[in-house]
Amino acid sequence: MTFDLYSTAPTSKQNYSRQALQQSATEQSKKLDYDVAIVGGGIVGLTFACALKESGLRIAVIEAKTDSSAVSRGQAYHINLMSSRIFEGIGVWEQMQSQVNPIQQIRLSDADYPGIVQFLPQDLNATVLGHVADHAVVLEALRDFLRHCATVTYLCPVEVVQIDYQADRVELELVEKSESKHISAQLLVAADGARSPIRQQAGIRADGWQYWQSCVVAFIQPEKPHQNIAYERFWESGPFAILPLPNNLCRIVWTVPKAEAAAILALDDHEFLVQLQQRYGDQMGALTLVGQRHLFPVYLMHSRVYTMHRVALIGDAAHCCHPVGGQGVNLGIRDAAALAQVLQAAAHKGEDLGLLSVLRQYDRWRFLENLIILGFTDVLDRLFSNSLFPLVTLRRAGLWALQSVPLMKVLALKLMTGLLGRSPEIAKPNQGK
Ligand SMILES: Cc1cc2nc3c(=O)[nH]c(=O)nc-3n(C[C@H](O)[C@H](O)[C@H](O)COP(=O)(O)OP(=O)(O)OC[C@H]3O[C@@H](n4cnc5c(N)ncnc54)[C@H](O)[C@@H]3O)c2cc1C
Repeated sequence: MTFDLYSTAPTSKQNYSRQALQQSATEQSKKLDYDVAIVGGGIVGLTFACALKESGLRIAVIEAKTDSSAVSRGQAYHINLMSSRIFEGIGVWEQMQSQVNPIQQIRLSDADYPGIVQFLPQDLNATVLGHVADHAVVLEALRDFLRHCATVTYLCPVEVVQIDYQADRVELELVEKSESKHISAQLLVAADGARSPIRQQAGIRADGWQYWQSCVVAFIQPEKPHQNIAYERFWESGPFAILPLPNNLCRIVWTVPKAEAAAILALDDHEFLVQLQQRYGDQMGALTLVGQRHLFPVYLMHSRVYTMHRVALIGDAAHCCHPVGGQGVNLGIRDAAALAQVLQAAAHKGEDLGLLSVLRQYDRWRFLENLIILGFTDVLDRLFSNSLFPLVTLRRAGLWALQSVPLMKVLALKLMTGLLGRSPEIAKPNQGK
């Protein structure tokens, strides 16, 4: 979908006289010249475009998938307090709020060990601990918002096929319906996901690994109300999470070794529900499967830098973490708000947005904060997916301390809710709760 520009821009396949061609080329370069080009119209790329709404910068968002295929991912996320505050500051939270589910309690437990850690909103002096939202709800709210931003051009389905970094600009070749087009920008922002062709093409190296586990995810309708409780239960094979959604739906994220995950996916619905019930417990009664089950590989990946001359990485393009704790998209939303703040300040001073001296401020802000969460999720998974006696003793002592020592509880909660670290100015305090 193309919201503007291309409807009036000439195509390369049309025949022109030399003079007309020169004239149209001038017009085209005038029209297709942006301040920022964002590749990737996922949640992170769109949040970034929305966060720049007041900047006056001319922005192009380029998304390869059609609107309907990008929306129908069948995913749901834990949206932490920092992310809802950022959405609130952007002005998009109101539209999402009626379609997300609040988390009123989080319960952590170690397999069948009876000691449970219970987090409540009052531990944080808040009214909720976060929310759970369907991928489509967040994506559509952000898209609707962008439709009213005159400075943003949304190009979809359009693919980037070539990038040419120059001293003062970056030139992109795009393909829309097998037709080639060119745009240029001061800065290219890669929000193109974990495989990020832009990161790879820019030669930015990344460290990480694929876990021995995969995740089976599914939507479940329990017989009894979920009571807005999120569960994270650690089993030797991997963590098992239940997230409460509107209409008494629940999202399960069942992490197990790869071969076991493939076997779970292959079960028929009845046998799947029998096995699921053993993991789930009977606190919500009988379970019904809604829709299809999906399998996701699990990676940890961290780019060595997030920026180079004329390019910045945000979201999964810069880092991916284990899904335990549901942090991935939240880190990306925070990257988006942080980079938008850095660029807005630079634009205000009339600086070139693609200069490394500008972009490095974003790198310095976000690199360590993201690394801490990546490390936290990795340690959590390794510590709990383990039957070594000293580790079992250590983690059970840790759970006891989390439940009994208020300072530890608040620290852990602040980490999970995104309230530790530097807050972007756009995040509205005391709201989004
Ligand atoms: C099982 C599982 C459970 C999870 N649960 C949670 C959770 O509860 N909470 C949470 O915070 N996170 C969670 N995550 C992580 C979360 O899914 C990701 O962090 C998030 O989707 C990343 O968003 P993104 O916008 O950076 O990338 P993506 O969603 O991957 O978007 C990238 C976009 O770029 C587009 N694109 C790519 N290449 C091009 C190109 N050349 N031209 C144009 N467009 C292009 C793609 O089409 C895509 O739309 C989970 C992950 C898994 C696997």
